[in-house]
Amino acid sequence: MTATAFESIVEKALAKPRNLGVEELERLLSPADAAERECARAAAYSLKCRYCGRKVSMRGLIEIGNVCAKDCFYCGIRRSNSSVRRYSLDVAGIVRMAEKCAALGYASAVLQGGEMESEANTAFIEECLLRMRPLGLGVTLSLGEQTEEVYARWKKAGARRYLLRIETSDRELYSRLHPASHSWERRVECLRSLRRCGYQVGTGVMCALPGQTARQLAGDVKFFGDEDVDMIGMGPYIPHPDTPLAAKDEGFDAATRLEKGLDLIAATRLYLHDVNIAAATALQALAPDGRERGVLAGANVIMPNATDVEYRKAYTLYSGKPCMEENATACRGCLERRLESIGEAPLYGESGDSPHFAARQIRAQEG
Ligand code: SAH
Repeated sequence: MTATAFESIVEKALAKPRNLGVEELERLLSPADAAERECARAAAYSLKCRYCGRKVSMRGLIEIGNVCAKDCFYCGIRRSNSSVRRYSLDVAGIVRMAEKCAALGYASAVLQGGEMESEANTAFIEECLLRMRPLGLGVTLSLGEQTEEVYARWKKAGARRYLLRIETSDRELYSRLHPASHSWERRVECLRSLRRCGYQVGTGVMCALPGQTARQLAGDVKFFGDEDVDMIGMGPYIPHPDTPLAAKDEGFDAATRLEKGLDLIAATRLYLHDVNIAAATALQALAPDGRERGVLAGANVIMPNATDVEYRKAYTLYSGKPCMEENATACRGCLERRLESIGEAPLYGESGDSPHFAARQIRAQEG
């Protein structure tokens, strides 16, 4: 039997990293039927197993606060949303949740929150990092755009990785999702600053956005390769009723959004091979087994929520956020069982560095 054009693209992607052009990526991101979808996902999963084994790295996610200076049209914690109860954890609260992550066996924790640029905020995060140091966690920050100086200070205080989604690589689409004061160029500059500071750099995008095309998503996957990032966190856009973008939504149902998210994970794994890819919580908001399906489409990182339950509701980026009532221990147990059901095991006790980052370090030492 001769291979179809779609199968040939998958074969070509499997042969080596970054082996596809934008048109081929676009085709990969537009499977014609369930058989094509399955073909891409099975190949992506085989690559995930080749680089990471049948293991999934776990990172405890601590949502440190929802006060945000930004006004992104899609995000539930945007500055102009007056119906959110705002909160900011204090240092003791953050350290306590980080201790819980360590006690649960997570080798890594992510501090995520709204975006603020001020000396007070910089010093606050620094203090948290210094206080978390004895726990030996590999700390990831996801605190938005900052100056290179701030990124350097946080790196020095102990942060190891940074997640800053570009949201979309397409400048025109970016401008439709953000007020004019938000700059796509600055976000790219921030990613480059993070690299210069020595972080493992993560970025990502949303899919299923109103008006977004497969060609734009193909550009996103190319962008990840061009910026040579170590980690990717991507997920489907899910409307939040108190945001301006909700009114412009195309009305995809949950299943369609989920499929788009999984197609994007598969294409990214097929194109980049050795990066860390997170199965975003947004996948689970769309289906109870969304994150496991993310793993089966090529993801190798899951970030169980480790925030105290009383704050989870206030950190609502989109509607239908899962795990609102479960504490961190319950979240961990639930995910473990879910992973076992697909023959995967959670990876505890190792920092779970991106194999791509490790390979770049070795190249730098040799060269
Ligand atoms: N303020 C930080 C991180 C917090 S938001 C930063 O700027 O990086 C984390 C991510 O949630 C965002 O990057 C965005 O991609 C995603 N997000 C926000 N609103 C969303 C929505 N309505 N649906 C799906 N994902 C959303």
